[in-house]
Amino acid sequence: MKLILFGIQGAGKSTQGNLLSKQLHLPYLSTGHILRQIAKEKTKLGRYVKETINAGVLVPDDKMIPLVEQYLSRREYKNGYILDGFPRTIEQAKRFKNCIDKAIYLKINDKEALWRLLYRNDSEREDETLPAIKKRIDLFKKKTLPVVNYYDEKKKLIVVDASKSIEEVNEEILNSLGKKLVKNQILSIKNKGKAIIAIVGLPGVGKTAAANYFTKKRIPVISFGKIVNEYITKHRLVHNEENHKRIREMFRKEYGMAAFAILNLKKIKKLIKKNTVVIIDGMRSWEEYLYLKKQLKNIKVYILGLYADKDLRYQRISQRRDRNKLYGPDRDLNELLNLNMGPTFTFADFIVKNNFSEEEFYDKLEEVYREVYFSL
Ligand code: AMP
Repeated sequence: MKLILFGIQGAGKSTQGNLLSKQLHLPYLSTGHILRQIAKEKTKLGRYVKETINAGVLVPDDKMIPLVEQYLSRREYKNGYILDGFPRTIEQAKRFKNCIDKAIYLKINDKEALWRLLYRNDSEREDETLPAIKKRIDLFKKKTLPVVNYYDEKKKLIVVDASKSIEEVNEEILNSLGKKLVKNQILSIKNKGKAIIAIVGLPGVGKTAAANYFTKKRIPVISFGKIVNEYITKHRLVHNEENHKRIREMFRKEYGMAAFAILNLKKIKKLIKKNTVVIIDGMRSWEEYLYLKKQLKNIKVYILGLYADKDLRYQRISQRRDRNKLYGPDRDLNELLNLNMGPTFTFADFIVKNNFSEEEFYDKLEEVYREVYFSL
């Protein structure tokens, strides 16, 4: 199902978009969000977009249309999407080739919208000052209302009274979409597949941070190394580097290069039964990957390779509370060669570079998750 959301700022597009995204299992895409991401980049385009947004004017159609088309060609949008912020001009609407099912206009009067925006104090947007908002409301009336009418003429428009509560607006949208459309959408969710995302990367790259990010999002994470901890606790041994190493090697001797996948398989099977996506932290060898693929035939196994510059990784490890001396080329090469991580990383389905801020890192992880989840 392909939906577009229209409405002035403060009408609740992103609130309703995110809600519908969860209910209908469709990815929500806001052009404002995309542009704000681009504006953060220190490139020519980044600077240009930043200036344009802050001036409260529209990005020219010739730049905007290819950008949106490029985004929508990603596989996560193949089964549908909820689009917010595009098309915003008649030119964009006419040149937009995707066949839309419904356009939803969240109608609200200016006063109510301004009231909401002024009391929304969590915004960090530089274009949310009163004059900027007023300018954008005018822009909406001049440029975007004709687009709303365009979809009305095509008999695709749903108009919703957006001054009501979040729940009421949401209910009205779902009712207007029609039982049949919503039912079909929900049926298609039931046939969805499942996936595993295995995080792979050298020490200090941010695997734990990535795992924590997914845990916070309530996506289950299995840490491969936990079985070593569990063994040590069960056998009342001391938790030190020497024992950890000894047990790791013992497992590998007994089960071979796929040991950690073999020993974690039961856990994985149990979790994937109840969840659509499961994250694995700490997969290393190519043999582990092949083993999982073979054992979990109907489940897609993706490798998420994390990368960071060597010096940065070493610096991160040296700042850790414990095991802060265990870094250097020897440890890296041990993982790549002896633990056979080399091929696993090289054949990664996604590579995320973690050289920059935490925020950027999480944004990229979110992108990977979306792509996996919505293309199932
Ligand atoms: P929004 O978050 O949708 O209010 O968008 C923020 C800013 O991004 C707008 O004020 C425009 O400068 C720009 N923008 C977003 N979508 C479009 C579009 N479809 N065409 C042109 N400019 C856009």
